[in-house]
Amino acid sequence: MKYHIVNFGCQMNLRDAEVMAGILEKAGYERAEDMDAADVILVNTCAVRDSAERKIYGQIGTLAELKKKRPGLKIAVTGCLAQRPETPEKMLNVAPHVDLLFGTHNQHEVANLLERVNDSREMTIDVWDQEGAVLEHLPSRREDGLKAWVTIMYGCNNFCTYCVVPQVRGRERSRNPEGILREVRELGEKGYKEITLLGQNVNSYGKDLGGTYTFSDLLLDLDKVPGIERIRYMTSHPRDFSDRLIEVIAASRKVCEHFHLPIQSGSDEILRRMNRGYSREKYLELTKKIRRALPQASLSTDIIVGFPGEREEHFQETLELIQEARFDAAFTFIFSPRSGTPAAGMPEQIPYEVKKERLAQLMEVQNQISLEKNKAMVGKIYEVLLEGLSPKNPDRLTGRTRTNKIVLLSGPGEKVGQLASVKIQRAKTWTLDGELEG
Ligand code: SAH
Ligand code: SF4
Repeated sequence: MKYHIVNFGCQMNLRDAEVMAGILEKAGYERAEDMDAADVILVNTCAVRDSAERKIYGQIGTLAELKKKRPGLKIAVTGCLAQRPETPEKMLNVAPHVDLLFGTHNQHEVANLLERVNDSREMTIDVWDQEGAVLEHLPSRREDGLKAWVTIMYGCNNFCTYCVVPQVRGRERSRNPEGILREVRELGEKGYKEITLLGQNVNSYGKDLGGTYTFSDLLLDLDKVPGIERIRYMTSHPRDFSDRLIEVIAASRKVCEHFHLPIQSGSDEILRRMNRGYSREKYLELTKKIRRALPQASLSTDIIVGFPGEREEHFQETLELIQEARFDAAFTFIFSPRSGTPAAGMPEQIPYEVKKERLAQLMEVQNQISLEKNKAMVGKIYEVLLEGLSPKNPDRLTGRTRTNKIVLLSGPGEKVGQLASVKIQRAKTWTLDGELEG
């Protein structure tokens, strides 16, 4: 039996897919690189915005054809969309060819669930509405041999008013430090150079474990793991980014000087309606503290435009904020009302045309800043982890600086996996061109 996974969404989903792949392989399945060769197609879904949801239903729709041609094919759907309350009924209506629907809380059961499908002609639906215990020692098949995702916590307790994550991922649950350390030590022994710690809000890591061990303590311990050269993490909530955490990162050798701090809006009024728990002032203070402690740090952010009640003056405050904060990069989104979240029912929803126009303005201002920031790197030398061949041009190598900037350069393929000194020659908005030094 061969399986193929189609993945949508964030890094957390990529990691979940690696674990499901590991579980399936342990149960005797083999991987099919191509969908056409698979006996089981597993679609791991995202629900954070409506655009993702529509794309996924479209993709699942196209699988009906494949199933007509090969009636033995099993189609399973899991992930955040599966966990939405309205999904089971909708899936039965619009995609009755799906054999199995299961949520985010029972993905470790994937192999058993597929067994059950074999005896059933109807759609098997098994979505747990409650999160289970955090499980350790699950097998996994990692996609990369150099960089690894490491989930340190599941769920979210923040309830930002626009966000569906707490609904589909449940409450915060931290893995115990021993399990994480064991996993990262093994990664170091296997030759991995970089880890990215994953959680919806890594700053609250450990709070549910009942002790005093925090995210800062975890970073201190991970900094000592042999073999690992770089530690990244995502995402951290600006509200509880502590001074101690900044100190720990500044003093660590391996934790990278890249801070992804989603601001979402530059207006205090909108931030309050979003339930973000910080003001524009507090946020800017945090960026200043970070830059004082680590002058070489890069900063990136997420921004939503067109949140309900966002007037022109609120949007202008966001534009002013990005000019003041001077982010290296920003991920910008059009507000998407998600059923079951407070923001979906708020008055003063913004027309789509206005949202689109604001997004375009925001991106124009940010792209200019990103380019200026990148230009300031030209002529200087940076440590770059050479990650692979450039997907667009296999004669070039691609890598990243510690500050998470993508660098393209010429060099021998054998250097992939190594840290190199690279001089930056040319800057673009999203990437840099460089050359190997020495
Ligand atoms: N836990 C992380 C990431 C959550 S989702 C965090 O708090 O930063 C990633 C990004 O998607 C968010 O930062 C937000 O900018 C965006 N997002 C979430 N819900 C959205 C919605 N309903 N409409 C538009 N963008 C949304
Ligand atoms: Fe969503 Fe807010 Fe939790 Fe991030 S912190 S996952 S935006 S509720």
